[in-house]
Amino acid sequence: MSETPLASLPKPAPTEGHPLLEVRKLRKFFPTRAHTFGLRRQWVRAVDEVSFALERGKTLALVGESGCGKSTVGRSILRLVEPTGGEILLDGAHIEALSERRLRPLRRRMQVVFQDPFSSLNPRLTVYEILAEPIRNFGLAQGREAERARIARLLEAVRLPRDALSRRPHEFSGGQRQRIGIARALAPDPELLVCDEAVAALDVSVKAQILNLLADLQESLGLAVLFISHDLAVVEHLAHRIAVMYLGRIVEEAPNEALFAAPHHPYTRALLSAVPVPDPFAPRRRIVLKGDVPSPLHPPPGCHFHTRCPYAVARCREEVPKLRSVGPGHVSACHFDIPLAS
Ligand code: SF4
Repeated sequence: MSETPLASLPKPAPTEGHPLLEVRKLRKFFPTRAHTFGLRRQWVRAVDEVSFALERGKTLALVGESGCGKSTVGRSILRLVEPTGGEILLDGAHIEALSERRLRPLRRRMQVVFQDPFSSLNPRLTVYEILAEPIRNFGLAQGREAERARIARLLEAVRLPRDALSRRPHEFSGGQRQRIGIARALAPDPELLVCDEAVAALDVSVKAQILNLLADLQESLGLAVLFISHDLAVVEHLAHRIAVMYLGRIVEEAPNEALFAAPHHPYTRALLSAVPVPDPFAPRRRIVLKGDVPSPLHPPPGCHFHTRCPYAVARCREEVPKLRSVGPGHVSACHFDIPLAS
């Protein structure tokens, strides 16, 4: 539960009938460098037909190894990179092809927290100026008094002391800088928060504090959070739903409890087997995957995971497994139902 007076920050108005964010068959391909000597340009298939929905007040975690395309999904939604194809709907409205001018008012509604707050905070500005910038850009406070009051509430919400306002980013620890980054993201009252590896650079204890803060903010403000992480352990206590990505595709998506209790896809099981458990004597089997993640320039045919999957058979090399229902709200892209104990 929240320890701060978050009720003073405005909550987004609920909308009936559709999720806040809907992503349909999103694709993002990056061209390789310009071709020479008549060689054809090739494409890195960073994101390939990714679909999901995110409800208001919920957290969806997008999890996978480095290079699986999860950050590109987040950047495509925020239109920091242009999608190659597919649809992105914010509050029921298509935003995938909007011009920058028409996108601008919507940018207020979706904000981002990056992994490295230091590089994303202007070192020459004080915390007050950093927080005032989005408020002024979007015209959200009438006069200096209203601006000051709004900034004071933001500071309280992320549990930073009042005297932080006159200081600059280099005067803070990594965890405090991430709090400043979160306050800046909250400044324009967003409805969607994309957290891209937001705690990956922090020490264990600081990481836990920031995760608790994000959970409190999400619950108190009714935010929709897309939490991108390479670490399943990090999302366990935060996410309502978890989507696992491998080589540009979602291979499994499920409610949090179902994914941890009964993972279906062999890749998810391997990731979960590496998550530390509180009881070191609890029986468990670590699944070590052979080989590296293949290049997204030349993804393996059929099931992308077949080069590393201990259960792969001929069919896996030829036929792309579709996401299919394996439980309530639980889908998995594997041809087979492999018993959990195997
Ligand atoms: Fe493994 Fe085949 Fe399932 Fe892919 S479809 S996860 S290769 S068993």
